[in-house]
Amino acid sequence: MNSAEIITVGDELLIGQTVDTNSAWMGMQLSMRGIKVNRITSISDRREEIISALDEALGRAPLVLMTGGLGPTSDDITKETLAEYFGSRLVEDREVLAEITERITRRNLEMNENNRRQAMVPEICRVLANHAGTAPGMLFEKEGRIIVSMPGVPSEMKHIMQEHVLPLVSAMAGGRTIVHRNIMTYGTFEAKLAERLEGFERELHPAVKLAYLPAHGVIKLRLTGSGDDGDELHRIVEKQVRKLYTIIPDIIYGEDEVTLEETVGKLLLSNNLTISTAESCTGGKIASLLTSVPGSSAWFRGSVVAYDNSVKTGLLGVDPETISRHGAVSEETAREMAKGILRLVKTDFAIAVTGIAGPDGGTPDKPIGMVWIAVASAKGVIAEKHRFADDRMINISRSSYTALNLLRKQIISR
Ligand code: AMP
Ligand code: MG
Repeated sequence: MNSAEIITVGDELLIGQTVDTNSAWMGMQLSMRGIKVNRITSISDRREEIISALDEALGRAPLVLMTGGLGPTSDDITKETLAEYFGSRLVEDREVLAEITERITRRNLEMNENNRRQAMVPEICRVLANHAGTAPGMLFEKEGRIIVSMPGVPSEMKHIMQEHVLPLVSAMAGGRTIVHRNIMTYGTFEAKLAERLEGFERELHPAVKLAYLPAHGVIKLRLTGSGDDGDELHRIVEKQVRKLYTIIPDIIYGEDEVTLEETVGKLLLSNNLTISTAESCTGGKIASLLTSVPGSSAWFRGSVVAYDNSVKTGLLGVDPETISRHGAVSEETAREMAKGILRLVKTDFAIAVTGIAGPDGGTPDKPIGMVWIAVASAKGVIAEKHRFADDRMINISRSSYTALNLLRKQIISR
């Protein structure tokens, strides 16, 4: 019994007013416990929709989890529909009524008919107490299948899941273990990465699956192992992870949701190094990313947003001749900006960025999205040219993260 379906009920989900975060959370919790979610369905608060969704889900899966439609108002009809579906009448549950009365009077409110209606439950269900709100969860069994209905409010759903449903789910999964490992990469694109991992994928252990999850230039590689022997499975997955480190060491910057700025911060801290930035097209974004890391005062010294050429020359000491000969967006200017901020703020490393973010300002030889990034240290300066996108915000973001990644590589190859 290791598959499930999720049904979320509520008109607000279908008109885009509420994002269905309940399914995402439940899906993650189930998959961590070895239960495979095969389908997630969102439906409106209509009797026919609820009945047909239930019929279909129960035709496929032994476990169906539902949320939504249990509020005290007349638009919420899930409970009445479930009672009808299971051919059961609604009865007042004394414990639920006592708990609701307690909650309401504690807040100095009057019980009304709608509150009392929430204590009515289908006679055949098992009531799952909800200490986070008023509407209880309900568990039904039908021909060996389990259906659980929970409130839509995420905190209440989570409470009922944790108290009642997940313990049951773990028992159902029968000790099967799932191991997830997330390897974070930056500095490549999906098609290229897939090419580099062709051999790895071919030889992947049969108990392990690989998924590519790209977002904002970061590609997360998720390895998922499943099996009966937990210790053995951890060993198998660990071996695959170590293998990845040997194939793509240049682009792996961390594991498990760590950000590039956090990784860079850790590297600077552990090596007792300091950093400053001179930013043109990123407008301080790199400094902002770095200072979002707690404890950054130990290694981040400061930044100059050198947007106008007068700031590049006046504050950073870029030679006006360099700018007039090569332009503000050039390797030479980027190098001089990096050297300038290194000297000015006296740090071990310095990052400089100059580029054309768009939408205006592109020329045939300096198109929108062209960016020069330089990293300076006592050992010298290295500079890289990149061509990102046509979109201003993407260019600012990619320039910033690519600069952080270049810094990361410079620190570890020091
Ligand atoms: P209900 O149980 O239908 O009265 O839902 C109460 C509230 O919970 C709604 O107004 C939504 O804001 C929220 N909610 C309902 N369903 C979901 C869902 N699937 N994901 C996140 N929030 C939800
Ligand atoms: Mg609702």
